[in-house]
Amino acid sequence: MNNIELWQSTLGQIELSISKANFGTWFKNTTILSIDEKEHVVIGVPNGFAKEWLENKYHSNILDALRVFRPQVAGLSCAIYTPNATKRSIDGAQIKSPAKSSVLESNEKNITKQPYQQKQHLKSTLNEKYLFSNYIVGENNELAKAACHAVCENLGKIYNPLFIYGGVGLGKTHLLQAMGNAVLEKDSEKHVYYISSEKFTNDLINSIRNHTIDDFKKTYQKIDLLIIDDVQFLSGKEKTQQEFFYIFNSLYQINKQIVISSDRPPKSIATLEERLRSRFEGGMIVDVIKPDLETRVAILHAKARERNFALNDEIVRYIADNIKNNVRELEGALNRVMAICDLSQKKPSIEVVQNALGDIIASGRKRTVQTHDVIDVISAHYDVNNQELLSKGRKREVVKPRQIAMYLLRTELNLSYPGIGEHFGGRDHTTALHAYEKIARTMKDDERLRDEIEVLKEKIYDI
Ligand code: ADP
Ligand code: MG
Repeated sequence: MNNIELWQSTLGQIELSISKANFGTWFKNTTILSIDEKEHVVIGVPNGFAKEWLENKYHSNILDALRVFRPQVAGLSCAIYTPNATKRSIDGAQIKSPAKSSVLESNEKNITKQPYQQKQHLKSTLNEKYLFSNYIVGENNELAKAACHAVCENLGKIYNPLFIYGGVGLGKTHLLQAMGNAVLEKDSEKHVYYISSEKFTNDLINSIRNHTIDDFKKTYQKIDLLIIDDVQFLSGKEKTQQEFFYIFNSLYQINKQIVISSDRPPKSIATLEERLRSRFEGGMIVDVIKPDLETRVAILHAKARERNFALNDEIVRYIADNIKNNVRELEGALNRVMAICDLSQKKPSIEVVQNALGDIIASGRKRTVQTHDVIDVISAHYDVNNQELLSKGRKREVVKPRQIAMYLLRTELNLSYPGIGEHFGGRDHTTALHAYEKIARTMKDDERLRDEIEVLKEKIYDI
């Protein structure tokens, strides 16, 4: 196996162990540059940002994957290289760094700054409350945050366009706006423009109507950082897409930075012009997903602190346990608790919070989940079959999953103990009660079980 084959196989292996977005982002344009006699592997990466992530975050993934095909590998490091040079030097390990293309640099020098009359107007589109410093980072968004940060430090130079996607309320707009604010804070002369794709469409239509389309385009050409939020709304709007493509290209060609967000990846935006799609895919694509429990707790603490509101850990935990889908809902819940406490002039107790949030929580999820969802998740998670789980059989490997199933049917679906007994082969209600109590008791000091239940709940509500 030569180095190229080894790397191809290794990539195949890594792809299985990390998310698609991460894989595409960090492993694109990588290669093995050399393997020395001590079995130290040097991996070529396109920039310092990728080097940092591969060496720190993916070090063991890469090492494990390499060793599947070459068990004697002793260690690895990364080096920045320019792809063209490497094609020639893949064995000779001629490493060039840094990887800045000379074309990009010479272009940049030719741009003369033009005065920008509309600056005040453009600037006002940013909301100053969205900052990197109040954006809480968890595993769900660390890649996106890191990418945004890196792009701000290297406008137009490393990832262009930067495409961020993820579901509603997961912090895309916050990140985009934070980028704009960060760039302006560093250099208030920069022309930053944040716009939603809907407003972009409206502005465009107006300019066509008023015969000012040329001015419209010219205005865009002066921008250093163009941020278009919720680009999925361009779907199906052909004329808008054409103009956008034109603006996109004219900025892209002179290395101006473009950042785009969407609720889904480019390939899933129906009726997106092919050439736009491939433009989007040509840059860096990162996703933001739902925050895990730990991140939700951190967000609540941070938001409460921001507003000088005292919340004890039990309450924070209750909210975070129950509101999982997005950060906007989490903020909504916190706002509601604060408002109720203000009105009643009382310090929040867990009962007050439960009352305040009861309907949000109920409407959010509980009604939609059914008994069989719980049973299915448990069987799949513990790899036991449904019938066995529901039967009276006493096989050891089903005892715990069954108790957990009973526990969850009680806590999540509020089933009665006799009702639960019925589901499990017509058992007596005391069996169900016993199972519930056993799990609840064990959870008190068994952190692993608590996490396990948490994971199961996530699965159940994700159905
Ligand atoms: P999206 O654009 O993805 O729909 P937003 O950026 O509008 O989501 O986020 C919704 C709300 O949640 C905003 O008030 C935002 O400040 C907040 N938010 C989202 N993610 C975070 C985070 N990681 N840290 C702090 N606040 C967040
Ligand atoms: Mg948004």
